[in-house]
Amino acid sequence: MRVTPIACLSDNYAYLLVCPETKEAAIVDPSEPGPVLAALEQHRGRNGDVKVVAILDTHHHPDHVGGNEEVAKALGISRVYGHKSDKGRIPKQSELLEEGASFTIGSLLVRVLHIPGHTLGAVAYVVSREPHVPVVFTGDTMFLGGCGRIFEGDPPMMHTSLQKLAKLDGRTQVYCGHEYTESNLRFAAHVEPSNQAIVQAKARASELRKAGKPTVPATIADELTYNPFLRVTSPEIRKTLGIPESASPADALGAIRKAKDTFK
Ligand code: FE
Ligand code: ZN
Repeated sequence: MRVTPIACLSDNYAYLLVCPETKEAAIVDPSEPGPVLAALEQHRGRNGDVKVVAILDTHHHPDHVGGNEEVAKALGISRVYGHKSDKGRIPKQSELLEEGASFTIGSLLVRVLHIPGHTLGAVAYVVSREPHVPVVFTGDTMFLGGCGRIFEGDPPMMHTSLQKLAKLDGRTQVYCGHEYTESNLRFAAHVEPSNQAIVQAKARASELRKAGKPTVPATIADELTYNPFLRVTSPEIRKTLGIPESASPADALGAIRKAKDTFK
């Protein structure tokens, strides 16, 4: 399968997901119509026609759904996916998803994980097609090297959601909602200074950004080595932030998130 990141607004990513066999496609989180429609034209110029059949929204925030109406209208899309609890908050939403729901885009199988925390209706889309490596669109719940702010949920909820993502096949490629990788990794290095995986990830991210390229994707296996929000039991992180050994993983996650909120 082919995933093309589309830079939107100041640091958002929308994505074009194409089934290589049927040429059916979906747009994930169209923040704004302009860059999405331009990227589609460019893709068609290079790879031939594709038929966009659906919009996949990870959550209701305007920087993820702001282009829904215009993109749906311009491309004649009637299938717009989002969590059922986001009904009324996702423009043009036609499909009301729950944990474990699945659907297809061409011959790609899309599986839905409900991952509340950033918002209560946040979902991830896990896309697989044997023998390809699976991909996951995580929205603002998991970023490369970080996680989203906890706006509607609480730390235990966010912890459970991140653990759901952590348990995916380690080869799964993570495509997230924002280009926050470099600042996330600065925080990661601050809380876990002896972790060499962070040093390597920082070098990779800075090289890519200097070349004007997105840092996405990274794999779930990569994230487990450096993302502090998946490493809540790390003794070094706990020591840096003064989190007691006896604190539960969810409490540790809450403390790490709080430290990140004010980290400069
Ligand atoms: Fe958001
Ligand atoms: Zn966002």
